[in-house]
Amino acid sequence: MAMNKIQFQPGMSFSDFARDFGTEEKCAEALEKVRWPQGFICPTCQNKEHYVVWHNKVKTFQCVNCHTQTTLTSGTIFHSTKLPLMKWFQAFHILTQTKNNVAALELRRLLGIGYSTASRMKHKILQVMFEREASTILSGRVELDDAYMGGEHPGGKAGRGSENKVPFVAAIQTSMEGHPLYAIFSPVKSFSSEEIAKWACCNLAPSATVVTDGYSCFRAVTKAGCTHEPHIVGKKRKSTDMGCFNWVNTVLGNIKNAISGTYHNVKYAKYLHRYLAEAQYRFNRRFDLRSMMPRLLYAAVNTGKRTEAWLRLDENAI
Ligand SMILES: [Zn+2]
Repeated sequence: MAMNKIQFQPGMSFSDFARDFGTEEKCAEALEKVRWPQGFICPTCQNKEHYVVWHNKVKTFQCVNCHTQTTLTSGTIFHSTKLPLMKWFQAFHILTQTKNNVAALELRRLLGIGYSTASRMKHKILQVMFEREASTILSGRVELDDAYMGGEHPGGKAGRGSENKVPFVAAIQTSMEGHPLYAIFSPVKSFSSEEIAKWACCNLAPSATVVTDGYSCFRAVTKAGCTHEPHIVGKKRKSTDMGCFNWVNTVLGNIKNAISGTYHNVKYAKYLHRYLAEAQYRFNRRFDLRSMMPRLLYAAVNTGKRTEAWLRLDENAI
């Protein structure tokens, strides 16, 4: 069997992690370098001159000009955290180097922290991934399909009309040779033409050629200027048998298994966008596994504070 270049690439090993982020000091140094690559800049007045003062071992930068005190973590996703930075960095490592989604319960065990702390941290990191992925736009040849998450009853049957059953679209950009490149997975309110048009305007380049089955709502991708290439699936043929949907079907199956195998009793209606973002973030960076963790750190520093109350607000849900 030929070696899969993506699966066999070296990632960031435990030894690499220990070398770069193995102490609280190393984590703080890395965070400072990512936050202020050219040295401290006051977030209030953009002045560079400052004093360093220590409050209970917390390094604090005091601006000479406006006297604002800034810590390494203030105004970032780490804002007000009581956890050592190394726990956060370990979570970044786990979330970027494993193949599947990781439940808060697993993070709790691996990091040796409380469940609610692990859950809060997990939602913050997923929010970072979600915001980072918001700018992803697919172009070229794009396979698009509809799917649902949740709503299963104990008997294993999908429950119609279940409140926890959430529709979402999966889109895969492929190369001209048909290899998958990038993906977008987004919850939608419904599979109506309006919803698909709105989704296409935000997520597809007008130059994209969108390959779908015959579901009528997909015609709405033309509202975003895209070319639509519908393939009508015959009564006896399943879309999974059709080569033109090869990748979206494969990836969709993997994503659904990864999410349903990881998350149990979760509120899909409220949080599915974050679980999908977790899978999407990793998928779109899978070509360079080693750099995924430093890149997530960069994204975390550049995402503002997101409090637990904010993360739970309905308007920040889907
Ligand atoms: Zn200042």
